[in-house]
Amino acid sequence: MIVTPLTKLLGIRIPVVQGGMQWVGLPKLVAAVSEAGGLGVLTALTQPSPDALRIAIRDTRKLTTKPFGVNITLLPTINPPDYEGYARAAVEEGIKIFETAGNNPGPLIKFFKSQGCIVVHKCTTIRHAKSAERLGVDVLSIDGFECAGHPGEEDIGGLVLLARAAKELKVPYIASGGIADARGLAGALALGAAGVNMGTRFMCTVESPIHHNIKEKIVASTEQDTVHIFRTLHNTARVFKNKVALEVVAIERKPAGAKFEDVRDLVSGNRGRMVYENGDPDYGIWSAGITIGLIHDIPTCAELLKRLESETEEIINGLHTTVLKSHL
Ligand code: NAD
Repeated sequence: MIVTPLTKLLGIRIPVVQGGMQWVGLPKLVAAVSEAGGLGVLTALTQPSPDALRIAIRDTRKLTTKPFGVNITLLPTINPPDYEGYARAAVEEGIKIFETAGNNPGPLIKFFKSQGCIVVHKCTTIRHAKSAERLGVDVLSIDGFECAGHPGEEDIGGLVLLARAAKELKVPYIASGGIADARGLAGALALGAAGVNMGTRFMCTVESPIHHNIKEKIVASTEQDTVHIFRTLHNTARVFKNKVALEVVAIERKPAGAKFEDVRDLVSGNRGRMVYENGDPDYGIWSAGITIGLIHDIPTCAELLKRLESETEEIINGLHTTVLKSHL
């Protein structure tokens, strides 16, 4: 058993959070992660309305009695969602754990804390982590440049962020971005983290609701198969390097630069969603972290978390032995 402040706070067995993922964080996957001992997280904005989120929460409860959370991510969107409505609906449905991320999360964090909820806030700089700490978050999810989706604009890898977190943060933190196996989890624990957040790794599980072709594409890909879009729009996103992503980058590189309207049809979330539905990896934009270079199979969530737990314990015990030997 790997007991950490995260497992104790959230009431989970393994210090692993399945982070919010647009179009992926649906009841079946969330319940499977929680049943397997981690923390499953429903992605609020994947649901078309706060009322649909209520139904997704109830559907998840039918599949698990274990704790699970809800993610709300605040980023530029084509149609700005009713963030407050989603937040209120989830609290009213009895959700006690929230993952927040994105821009200006203050009001949302304050609301969840006023409702007695646990907040895990994901951020990509120590500066933002400290301001979230002042707002009273319970856990910080420190998101390194390796991550899928939005890594911020400062391009700092997880190793440095986590080492700084160890020295400078007061609340527990988990490592996010670049983690898909036991070496990642053991490394994160060595860096003082209370656990890890994994996204891309969970996309490639049996219970993940995306088309099998996309899971196979992840298995067949390497860490060189992602690319950043939206760099010039200051909304950088790491996505799978497919035809559409390369077209977006080419438009952004034009001497005149690009406005969001120039790429809007290519990048729309609804088009990306079709990738997961129809299994064509080139149909639209879809998020992927560089951990795709570490993912070689499609296990169930239970198999994945069991393996992660036992291999992490082996690594930690092995390190103890090595360190002891080297000091004899
Ligand atoms: P969408 O269709 O509204 O937009 C598609 C992409 O374009 C997103 O990455 C978005 O951030 C970006 N974008 C939209 N307007 C922009 C602008 N004016 N300038 C620069 N970039 C812009 O997004 P969607 O796929 O329907 O997702 C809805 C929301 O959920 C978005 O804010 C998205 O970023 C966010 N999201 C959440 C998660 C999560 O883990 N919860 C993951 C990915 C995206």
